[in-house]
Amino acid sequence: MPARPYILAETTWKTVRETAYEVAILPCGATEAHNYHLPYGTDNFECEHIAAEAARLAWDAGARVVVLPILPFGVQTGQLDIPFCLNLYPSTQAAVLGDLARSLDRQGVRKLVILNGHGGNDFRALIRELQAHVNVFLCVTNWYQVVDAADYFEDLGDHAGEMETSIMLHIAPALVRPLSEAGEGRERRFRIAALREGWAWAPRQWTQVSADTGIGDPRAASRQKGERYTSAVVERVSRFLVDLAAADPHDLYEQRPTAHSAHRRSLQDGAAGDRAEPRDGM
Ligand SMILES: [Zn+2]
Repeated sequence: MPARPYILAETTWKTVRETAYEVAILPCGATEAHNYHLPYGTDNFECEHIAAEAARLAWDAGARVVVLPILPFGVQTGQLDIPFCLNLYPSTQAAVLGDLARSLDRQGVRKLVILNGHGGNDFRALIRELQAHVNVFLCVTNWYQVVDAADYFEDLGDHAGEMETSIMLHIAPALVRPLSEAGEGRERRFRIAALREGWAWAPRQWTQVSADTGIGDPRAASRQKGERYTSAVVERVSRFLVDLAAADPHDLYEQRPTAHSAHRRSLQDGAAGDRAEPRDGM
């Protein structure tokens, strides 16, 4: 297998010295139980595959991007009672991310994308804090939110269900146990309506929520579904990488509206002011 110049672990100093890399990609996964039929490394296999394929397409389109080795441990505070669910606290994650970003900063790499593949990882607060201290543009995308899974899958459970099983059947079929061995991934939902409806939030205590560690029924999974969905995600992430590689981190916003159009828009909106923040809540 020839070395891929967009995968840092396969790349030599000679290539690095000769390449003006624009964007570094840090895949972030988790090590955790995935029902009875998927391996503990599922999040890492998925995230590394999507990072590598998106980087390949971006590289072929001329963008100089490089995938860093994956951070294979995630935030698992709701699964501490399940053997080998290996937890990093968010504060540890912040320290690791900070060290890596400061390395890149000193070396002149100006853009870092975190490609997150684990729901317990929440990088936004970490980025808000770290961005004040490094001259590297920081951003995050959760690959499982890049395209609408409802267009591809019948059952939208969020852990080891139809989606993850389909992806694994596509990218690492030898590691998927027969679906006859899988649990049903049935979820016990919160009794309190606000938590159930999602507008109030608390982390889930996994062993109380699921008997088999899965949430979502994997039985309708197929390799074909996994391939279709994965390529849609990869395609979209690769376009983001190409756009980001070409962008000037100090000039990321659309042109300011003229005084006239700004006035007209504020009349249409019924209010002026900073409208950027509330979107983060979605
Ligand atoms: Zn997973």
